[in-house]
Amino acid sequence: MIVAEQKPMEEIVALVAGHKRVLALGCGGCVTVCLSGGQREVSTLASIVRLGCRMTVEEATLERQCDAEFFDAVREQAERCDAILSLACGVGVQMAARLFPGKPVYPALNTRFMGTNDGAGQWSENCLACGDCSLGVFGAVCPVARCSKSLLNGPCGGSANGMCEVDPERIECAWQLVHDRLKALGRMDVLDAIAEPRDWSKTHSGGPRRLSREDMADLR
Ligand code: SF4
Ligand code: SF4
Repeated sequence: MIVAEQKPMEEIVALVAGHKRVLALGCGGCVTVCLSGGQREVSTLASIVRLGCRMTVEEATLERQCDAEFFDAVREQAERCDAILSLACGVGVQMAARLFPGKPVYPALNTRFMGTNDGAGQWSENCLACGDCSLGVFGAVCPVARCSKSLLNGPCGGSANGMCEVDPERIECAWQLVHDRLKALGRMDVLDAIAEPRDWSKTHSGGPRRLSREDMADLR
């Protein structure tokens, strides 16, 4: 899922200051699952902004804020507000701005990464959407996202006791995980091969990416 967290309240208040009626707009997707932008968080944030900024705050939560089709449900509500405070990830915020070109749209969240829930209130990053997935080679452990140096031929010399030298208290060495996983699978032979340099233009380093499926061209 996309993992996000709420911005500091002072920053949110500064963003919406000066408006009279704001729509706090949540999303029922990833940010609901990671407890940062669902119906419950919309309700809590709206109450705080109402009290702190002495303004009217309307509330709504879309099934998904990254999809234009779900905005019909809040079109009237959005039109009568003079700004939207979006509790979606950055994709949802930009979709709201695209659909309401004359209206200020502000992010209430900081979008952090794509990752998994590791326990109560804990998430970790495990995919950078690199565009050329290598999980099939590395035992379904991603060295691109989970190795601090994105090494494809690791480990580096800093791995110790299964932890990464960048932060031995917090970050597991991805290459230790790759090693352990391949060993468990009886595929240690994989580590004998040198991974070839990859085409990083498929990552964001090649500029903003687009995906256009030819098999769906008739539907456009
Ligand atoms: S190899 Fe690329 S697509 Fe696959 S999990 Fe890692 S970052 Fe994501
Ligand atoms: S210690 Fe492991 S995870 Fe950290 S940079 Fe080196 S190989 Fe990557």
